[in-house]
Amino acid sequence: MSPYPKAEHATRVLVLNSGSSSLKYQLLDMRDGSRLAAGLVERIGEKTSRLVHTAPTGADEGRRERTDRIADHAKALEAVADELAHDELGLDSPELAAIGHRVVHGGLKFSEPVVVDDGVLAEIERLVPVAPLHNPANLIGIRTARALRPDLPQVAVFDTAFHRTMPEHAARYAIDTATADAHRIRRYGFHGTSHAYVSRRTAELLGKDPSEVNVIVLHLGNGASASAVAGGRCVDTSMGLTPLEGLVMGTRSGDIDPAVTFHLRRVAGMSVDEIDELLNKKSGLVGLCGDNDMREIRRRIDAGDERARLAFSIYIHRLKKYIGAYSAVLGRVDAVAFTAGVGENAAEVREAAVAGLEVFGLAVDAQRNAVRSGEPRIISPDGARTVVAVVPTDEELEIARQTFALVGEDRTAIV
Ligand code: ADP
Repeated sequence: MSPYPKAEHATRVLVLNSGSSSLKYQLLDMRDGSRLAAGLVERIGEKTSRLVHTAPTGADEGRRERTDRIADHAKALEAVADELAHDELGLDSPELAAIGHRVVHGGLKFSEPVVVDDGVLAEIERLVPVAPLHNPANLIGIRTARALRPDLPQVAVFDTAFHRTMPEHAARYAIDTATADAHRIRRYGFHGTSHAYVSRRTAELLGKDPSEVNVIVLHLGNGASASAVAGGRCVDTSMGLTPLEGLVMGTRSGDIDPAVTFHLRRVAGMSVDEIDELLNKKSGLVGLCGDNDMREIRRRIDAGDERARLAFSIYIHRLKKYIGAYSAVLGRVDAVAFTAGVGENAAEVREAAVAGLEVFGLAVDAQRNAVRSGEPRIISPDGARTVVAVVPTDEELEIARQTFALVGEDRTAIV
């Protein structure tokens, strides 16, 4: 028998986002989507790790930090469990309904969140070759949480799942079919949880059902991706087999002629690993101008820095090309939604991205665009054919929502 009594109303979900050396977490109450606690463990396995925990309702009313060594993910989750217990929000609480895990790659199999069992773990493991950086870390997070609370449902929510509705003509690359199939090469897309959440919130902002609206979502964080969402279903997205394709990002090149890689190998004599690192870590904004933070780039442009200005222009040019392409894919665009760190905060990026796109019915109102707020908001002028909006993303809430919808006892009690 389970040592944990079943609560009549288990309404809490713990969301875990496990990276190669980090563990992010949030504990949410699904009656209203409120955040009971949140935190981050960084530098797991290094000499000094760091755990930062915040719990607005907790015993210490706020933030606690520890910086001793945390050897591995199991120890990290134990440390998180201790912090939660300190605030009387422990993992043994009968109010905890489930743990929701962010899993980056769900391949072709997972188009919905699933309750983890041995078969699901084996499938996530099978996808490691297409997500070598992410899936192993996600697996460690799930296995650790499972060992700690074997009786509790663990739910995997996949970054790729929202994009599984893409039609074959959008998902397939124009390469030899047998080779593509043998190696599972196709467009999977990422940031799906964010694209799902933001497209739905955008429909709400318009006062419509998601099935009635066509939205272009621009998720512009350090990683960046665009998606075309028709009536609530993704029909195209800019990231591909891996998160390298598409928009110019903080450190990734985005779209590039694939022959550049042959050239770097044959002519520049770089190894495959060096090319991988060049395109994923030393390209994009950082490769172009040495900085990947849009605030710093803005400061340098204001100071007359030409390299920063060119990097910004290249970033915007790519963004415009995707807005144009996805307008063609969708036919009718009801809204363009900006989200994530850059999309939510950088008014100059939003303004530049739609400048000159009046032909698509796009414009921003300067005053509305300048407003800073954590709320979804419209920044286009009244009466514009296409609404331009800022819609803050919340991937943790969306993971919790999907997790709870799958396992919660009272599935209606949700935001
Ligand atoms: P991640 O992909 O790491 O989740 P985020 O969505 O948090 O990224 O976005 C991080 C990026 O957001 C930073 O690199 C920075 O470029 C940008 N950013 C954050 N705050 C601001 C701001 N106030 N103004 C402009 N850009 C910002």
